[in-house]
Amino acid sequence: KLENATLKAELGRATWKFMHTMVARFPEEPSKEERKTLETFIYLFSRLYPCGDCARHFRGLLSKYPPQTSSRNAAAGWLCFVHNQVNERLKKPIFDCNNIGDFYDCGCGDEDKKKGE
Ligand code: FAD
Repeated sequence: KLENATLKAELGRATWKFMHTMVARFPEEPSKEERKTLETFIYLFSRLYPCGDCARHFRGLLSKYPPQTSSRNAAAGWLCFVHNQVNERLKKPIFDCNNIGDFYDCGCGDEDKKKGE
């Protein structure tokens, strides 16, 4: 089947949004298990992402820049960095990773559930 760049880009946007929002809510001080879960997720993701060429490139990035999982900041900074690597390859604007703070809001309204309950 022919490539459809519109659909491929739409999938990319939705996926990045999900991934950045996910790491924005990763624990500030993750347990060993939480760290392992994120790492495993990222490697499984790189095997299953439906755009085969994208996934192959992404696996190359993972071997060069292994996922950082020691804290929310580390994970969000790492993902921003690898997304920028993809941006660079696709000749897209580079995102300022210092401004990632509140950019990815889950909208779920339950961020402090554990603390506040
Ligand atoms: P996107 O890159 O989708 O970004 C969406 C929004 O996120 C931007 O508008 C901006 O607000 C924000 N953003 C941009 N950079 C960052 C950053 N570094 N950190 C945080 N937020 C940021 N497409 C291909 O054609 N070839 C590929 O090989 C390819 N590989 C991909 C690999 C992966 C793992 C993923 C998830 C997608 C891949 N894509 C690939 C899709 C591509 O990255 C884009 O998603 C798609 O081209 C749409 O681009 P966009 O300009 O809408 O912005």
